[in-house]
Amino acid sequence: MSEIFAKVIIEISHEKVDRPFEYRVPEELKGDVIPGREVMIPFGAGNKVISGYVIGLTETPEFDKSKIKSIISVKEKSVTADGHLIALAAFIREKYGSTMIDAIKTVMPVRKVKKAVEKKTIIAKVTEAELTEAAEGAEHRKQRAKVRLLRELLSNSEIPYSLVTGKLNVSSQTVQSLEKSGLIEIEVTRQYRNPVTFRQAEEQRVSLSDEQSFITESVDRDFKNGNPGTYLIHGITGSGKTEVYMKLIEDRLKEGRQAILLIPEISLTYQNVIRFYRRFGDKVSVMHSKLSDGEKYDQFERARKGEISIMIGPSSALFTPFANPGIIILAEEHENAYKSENMPKYHAREVAAYLAKLTGSALVLGSATPSLESYTKALNGEIKLFTMTKRLTGGTLPDVDVVDLREELAKGNRSIFSERLKELMDDRLDKGEQIMLFLNRRGVAGFVSCRSCGHVIKCPHCDVSLSEHYGRKLMCHYCGYETVMPAECPECKSKKIAGFKAGTEQIEELVKKTYPQAIVLRMDADTTKHKDDYESILSRFANREADILIGTQMIVKGHDFKGVTLVGILAADMSLSNNDFRAGERTFQLLTQAAGRAGRGENPGNVVIQTYQPDHYAIEFASRQDYEGFYKEEYAYRELSSYPPAANLLAVQFIGEDRGALERFAGHIDTVCAPTVADTKTRRVGPGPAMLSKKKDLYRQVIYFKNEDYECLVRIKDVIEKETEENPDKRFNIMFDFNPMNSF
Ligand code: ADP
Ligand code: ZN
Ligand code: ZN
Repeated sequence: MSEIFAKVIIEISHEKVDRPFEYRVPEELKGDVIPGREVMIPFGAGNKVISGYVIGLTETPEFDKSKIKSIISVKEKSVTADGHLIALAAFIREKYGSTMIDAIKTVMPVRKVKKAVEKKTIIAKVTEAELTEAAEGAEHRKQRAKVRLLRELLSNSEIPYSLVTGKLNVSSQTVQSLEKSGLIEIEVTRQYRNPVTFRQAEEQRVSLSDEQSFITESVDRDFKNGNPGTYLIHGITGSGKTEVYMKLIEDRLKEGRQAILLIPEISLTYQNVIRFYRRFGDKVSVMHSKLSDGEKYDQFERARKGEISIMIGPSSALFTPFANPGIIILAEEHENAYKSENMPKYHAREVAAYLAKLTGSALVLGSATPSLESYTKALNGEIKLFTMTKRLTGGTLPDVDVVDLREELAKGNRSIFSERLKELMDDRLDKGEQIMLFLNRRGVAGFVSCRSCGHVIKCPHCDVSLSEHYGRKLMCHYCGYETVMPAECPECKSKKIAGFKAGTEQIEELVKKTYPQAIVLRMDADTTKHKDDYESILSRFANREADILIGTQMIVKGHDFKGVTLVGILAADMSLSNNDFRAGERTFQLLTQAAGRAGRGENPGNVVIQTYQPDHYAIEFASRQDYEGFYKEEYAYRELSSYPPAANLLAVQFIGEDRGALERFAGHIDTVCAPTVADTKTRRVGPGPAMLSKKKDLYRQVIYFKNEDYECLVRIKDVIEKETEENPDKRFNIMFDFNPMNSF
């Protein structure tokens, strides 16, 4: 009988052992040892027992058979990386640079078997009239969480428990007290026994518009021709993209296939998710970062067993072990959150494209402001482009005013509100309509400096200025360092030391002073520290419990406020001022999204964009909602400076404690790469200090490589990986970032 050997990636993340090791599969384990399985193996001279993942089997090992050791056992209680996951890991390892074991860990967010959890559902036990009465009572007693839940039960008589406590932000105490009063019942089922069907509230089906059915029929036709492709849906908010996603999913489900829908975590709100539960019932599962490992395991296990067919979640939902996925959708495909911040720094859009190819799935990208990457591919014909231009709910596009802040100053208006904005705010508050004020920065201040000598107060651990917060507190946004505002300048002893005031906290104070009668909510990183804060602020504003919502970019993403008729963008240039090749794109996206928040309901809306650079192309095109115009100008700039997507860019970051040694090390790596750089005609910038040259007491250096051909950059990465494998130096950390989302 022929012998079988397994190629095993061991559970140690180090370049030196980052290759498959060969092991004999003992007779009794044959059939059990399959690719993706975690096994126990003897390793090294001491035969230390460690674990590893099988990535392939062979009858013809490369190593001398007589010296090959045997696998000891298959690890119990460990999840198998089935099907295409190992292939995805190999793809990620090669394309983004990491060890194979780190790539395997990326595609297997949960690796240990967990006990099955119970599934709970909240069910209304009384009539609609009684629910309404209870909701009114709770309203009267200002029990907001109760109101939210009771209202929701009026439109859905059953809601998954996890959505209520998670996304709807209702505490378990509140749920219990409603259960005690007999209004609701909590139904508990073991998840793996014959799951009870989620008796969904009758969904109101819309009939698709011509624009919508043109898309679904085109995709369908491609499937029928055995040729599912990649599609970009460029459609303004409210044009009916989500409705199209649902139809596309439904069509694949009918063919017995499954669907993965990626939504950036920040847009994964209750309102967005419940639509899918309504349509598809308990075939849907939702993944998000707040789930425990056990809950995540459970969702994946249900997918593996075929109990669910739709997974909704952020990037990691891509790794759902479906047997036969047929469609992968990226909503808000332009979002930065699709790029991983940790090594391996993969982009979900690219991994999704590979997964689609592996599984014969369609890939659908959707956005109101597509990424330059996707739109370029659409123009090149690599992606099919669909455009949706009409809002289906009525509502008109808002009137946009661009206000030049320099002129305001010349007129003697030193306030943060221009005359035009102030006038419109007065008007809306009079009419009882809602206002959103958007500021692209949190905290009450940018930097704190001395007005006499110009000295800037910096964080002792990072190369950034501290910012002033309420109560004369200075804080570092990178490491959390805190100190109090000094009474005098440490350099020249002048007392004229102050923060440049223009943050959300400052705006809130000012708004409250100007409009003491208005109810104000603020949403930024500081007010959303607790896991449910985000959803809670959004739902309070949506329920019209406040007149004005002030916030950072969080408030402009994925939420539909019908009562908002005025959006003020207080300082549109803040996101332009930093030295980043994607700054124009990000500003355009934010302004377009922010403007899109006004006038969603019956009343027309206004948008006021305040800026010091009214002529900047990103601001001009955003004020006209002119995506094409913006795209042309932005692409020309990327082309001129060889930035993505006109060229590919690899940023190699070096991190270490000793500044001098780190500089020498980056210089050394640069020399090692030089022949390949010359050979591939790659352009190189650096090595030099990163823009954030020190963070948490660690220094940072960076080298940029630019080439039209991605493969040339992969070759440079391989040279660096080989060098660090042969001459490892523990003092330094190297990170690869292909086509980064920002400059370093
Ligand atoms: P998007 O995802 O592009 O923002 P949605 O799919 O959420 O758009 O649609 C916006 C609104 O229009 C929703 O309230 C949705 O129910 C409604 N809608 C979508 N398609 C139709 C249609 N064909 N007929 C009527 N209403 C529709
Ligand atoms: Zn000074
Ligand atoms: Zn710091």
